[in-house]
Amino acid sequence: MSLRDFYMERINLSNDPRFRASMRGSSCYNIVRQNGRTFVQFDNLSGDFDAEEIREIARVHGKLAVERDGELDLNDWHFEVPVEAQVCPCCRGEGKVTDPSIDAGGLTWEQVREFDSPSEWDEAMEGWEDYDEDAPPRRTGNSYLDGHFDVTCPECNGQNVVRSPDLKVLASPLREYVQRYEEGLDADLAERMAEFRMGC
Ligand SMILES: [Zn+2]
Repeated sequence: MSLRDFYMERINLSNDPRFRASMRGSSCYNIVRQNGRTFVQFDNLSGDFDAEEIREIARVHGKLAVERDGELDLNDWHFEVPVEAQVCPCCRGEGKVTDPSIDAGGLTWEQVREFDSPSEWDEAMEGWEDYDEDAPPRRTGNSYLDGHFDVTCPECNGQNVVRSPDLKVLASPLREYVQRYEEGLDADLAERMAEFRMGC
């Protein structure tokens, strides 16, 4: 690979949503489903709030939160809140994506064709003009089109949807905490991608 190709590949990957999702840090919460109820669970919030903020969080969510020895236990802080779910924008709900190292830079038809022998390809292309996006995937005989390079979607971890707490119902110290945390993840990712483009 030439040096130019090396940098081109890095630029393509750093702009690829699949690659970016795999490089972004984890959120500060988990969405847990238990007995048909959905909880948002924060990892260890101790030390992130002052006494007044904790009182405000307890006022809004206290009845729903886990108590230990009569105290709100911020180390195991989870409570039921409405959760927003959207079809995963990265895999469009498929739960898997092609490994971006294969095609982040886009592939020409010639390159796709090279994944298998021409005879298999010609056979596979019969009836291709009737291709229906919503039909169940059919085997084409081409390893790329047949998904041999698929990996679990890094954005939804194969869950098909991404869930997040409805920020509107969170107590304001928590809402601001989530927003700050997400902004931090975005900033980290931007820095990491800049370094990656430079060849680091
Ligand atoms: Zn996904």
